[in-house]
Amino acid sequence: MAKSDPVVVVGAGPVGLCLALALAKEDISVVLIEALSDGNFLDQVPRAGSNHPTTLAFFDRIGLYARMEPRGLIAPKFQYWDRQDNALIAEFDHALLKDDTRFPYVLQCERIKIIEDALAMAQAHPLVEVRMATEFVGFEQQGDAVLAQVKNAAGEIEIIRGSYLVSCEGARSIARKNLDVEFEGFTYPERTINIEVAYDFRKHGYTERNYISDPVEYSNLFHWKGPPDRWRIHFPTNIDDDENELKRPEALQKRLQQFLGIDHEFEICGCNLYTVHQRVAKKFRQARVLLAGDSAHVNSPIGGMGLNSGVHDAFNLADKLARILHDEADDEELDRYERQRRHVAVTHTQAQTIRNKRLLEERDPAVRRRNHDELRRQADDPALARKFLLRTALFESLREADQIA
Ligand SMILES: Cc1cc2nc3c(=O)[nH]c(=O)nc-3n(C[C@H](O)[C@H](O)[C@H](O)COP(=O)(O)OP(=O)(O)OC[C@H]3O[C@@H](n4cnc5c(N)ncnc54)[C@H](O)[C@@H]3O)c2cc1C
Repeated sequence: MAKSDPVVVVGAGPVGLCLALALAKEDISVVLIEALSDGNFLDQVPRAGSNHPTTLAFFDRIGLYARMEPRGLIAPKFQYWDRQDNALIAEFDHALLKDDTRFPYVLQCERIKIIEDALAMAQAHPLVEVRMATEFVGFEQQGDAVLAQVKNAAGEIEIIRGSYLVSCEGARSIARKNLDVEFEGFTYPERTINIEVAYDFRKHGYTERNYISDPVEYSNLFHWKGPPDRWRIHFPTNIDDDENELKRPEALQKRLQQFLGIDHEFEICGCNLYTVHQRVAKKFRQARVLLAGDSAHVNSPIGGMGLNSGVHDAFNLADKLARILHDEADDEELDRYERQRRHVAVTHTQAQTIRNKRLLEERDPAVRRRNHDELRRQADDPALARKFLLRTALFESLREADQIA
């Protein structure tokens, strides 16, 4: 087998970039293919950005954390609120994890900042060849290699030979479709509206990360470092709401005014509408082609788990590919990648994000009361609160995956 062939990584999102940098750190050469160009790479809608302690430790392994920290906000706490009563239900503090991690907090640092820094690091790394403005269109597997077909900036089709190909292309993965792998799960009928606003919600008692339960209009509220210093708030919308009407400046103002119960003219920095899917690919591997991140699983953003669990895929896979390519393991290790990370996607990420949404949107008053009492009980007991945080910050999923042979 031609072990000198690079690993072909498709997609310079957070998952592809972390994978490329982690492989390069192990002396493995990589070709990283990205459809966007240097000119439009940063023109992407706001998405993830709550980075859990486990993920920060991975970022630190490739030298990315030090670049992110000054660009983000350290958020040790998060809160659950009841909008009906305008009351705080419970607060969890990552300080309880001080003996479990060097990073007892979430770093609020947006995906766009992460990929900007990680791309600069990849472009400067001698073992990573970054091919911007290059679209992956298909592949062919051979016994000892995989041939990626790409369309370059000039519109020409090129073939790139790799030892393995990892699709980090995001939810619309062409590799997953070409492999004919089912993307099992469902799509929520309603869409979510995301409003970015320069306003300090701490004046109303909120902390940097907040989950707000309400039977009519639940929401999530997060703080991001500027300029301008911004907060992002998500609300569900009705299935047949008209997009233009939802995004009308007066409609956005009204939603925010009703949320806070104040008469204020907000400085709105942006808004977008998105659909939420809960899906996991039936397989994460077929011979020399692997799926990671959103290409392998997608979920609701409530709980901030998509980017985080995708980055965990990247490091799990990088360790295994490095051992295989350094002749320290055979390539059945990659089936273990699938067993471990698919288990996490189904049992942790999907289950937890579905539960999170149900908790916030619950309509039955008795169930709501029970749920809120249970959150209070866990927050008030340090041992239970630590256990809760080990789950939400993804320590538990990493430990469980480690035990899978
Ligand atoms: C509104 C919103 C909020 C979210 N908030 C959070 C959060 O707080 N925390 C969290 O953990 N997750 C969150 N997520 C989820 C998170 O954004 C994704 O899980 C994460 O970005 C996935 O990373 P990825 O690298 O797998 O894919 P992506 O980020 O989608 O990156 C894929 C890359 O591949 C490139 N690409 C695609 N097709 C091709 C092709 N054919 N050829 C070459 N390149 C290609 C794309 O241009 C892109 O650069 C949120 C998502 C949404 C929608």
